Amino acid sequence: MAQIIDGKLISKQIKDELKEKVATLKSEGKEICLAVIQVGNDPASTVYVGNKKKACEYIGIKSLAYEVPEETTEEELLGIIDKLNKDDSVHGILVQLPVPKHINEEKIINAISPSKDVDGFHPASVGALSIGQKGFVSCTPAGVIQLLKRSNIEISGKECVVIGRSNIVGKPMSMLLLRENGTVTICHSRTKELKEVCKRADILVVAIGKPRMIDASYVKEGATVIDVGIHRDENNKLCGDVDYASVEPVAGAITPVPGGVGPMTIAMLMNNCVEAGLND
Ligand code: NDP
Repeated sequence: MAQIIDGKLISKQIKDELKEKVATLKSEGKEICLAVIQVGNDPASTVYVGNKKKACEYIGIKSLAYEVPEETTEEELLGIIDKLNKDDSVHGILVQLPVPKHINEEKIINAISPSKDVDGFHPASVGALSIGQKGFVSCTPAGVIQLLKRSNIEISGKECVVIGRSNIVGKPMSMLLLRENGTVTICHSRTKELKEVCKRADILVVAIGKPRMIDASYVKEGATVIDVGIHRDENNKLCGDVDYASVEPVAGAITPVPGGVGPMTIAMLMNNCVEAGLND
């Protein structure tokens, strides 16, 4: 029987720790503030933005909502970001992605001041991570590291295999595991002998975007398996990139979906906001 890594519980612990820190800061007269910009009203984005607002409320972070229409131009959006960059009372700025097609996402990411880049997507943040300097780290991979550490799973010296090389999950995940002294292999769609490479892993992080693709045949007995994927299956049930029923009996530890990596993303966003406030 694998150890089930409880992301719901661990994210709650982190949020409660942050709540205390925020209360202390408040008592010293400092209020942390996150500005969230949503362009248009994509239903999934509305749900994500709503969850971020709720987490801010729980922790005691002030949230400013900029809900602007779909037709907002790139210049208008850049104007809002510029104003928020210059506003000393705002510590974190987040633009909910994706933005509508007429807006260049890269330009928007690059416009956010690295000191307020709580999503950790700015090239300066990504660069800082890769050369071991201080900077914000993308929330989902940062959450995976917390899951491992708080579950007492050693990373140092371990064979870590990451499936996926996206800018928001796979690449920063690999850099973080390396920072923790793991021996890291990154796999992607051109990787040959994927199964054999995965079977070497003591820690296997799956961020592939393919429902239940990774079954027990990819997993070494006793390995820790972290499932970043989120999908709805044909029965509208949430599932991950890992075939949980097949892998759980083989793994030493495993994250479920839902209740594994998912809740950690927002907890780490809140952590980045508090860091932004403390750095200020
Ligand atoms: P992307 O689609 O951007 O990246 C998927 C990666 O998997 C790519 O690098 C791709 O390789 C690789 N890949 C695809 N097919 C294969 C294959 N058959 N064999 C080996 N590698 C393959 O996804 P994201 O990184 O954005 O997200 C991954 C998953 O995590 C998704 O299910 C997403 O919903 C979920 N997610 C969950 C979050 C959370 O909060 N829990 C947050 C963000 C994402 P290549 O580069 O060669 O194309």
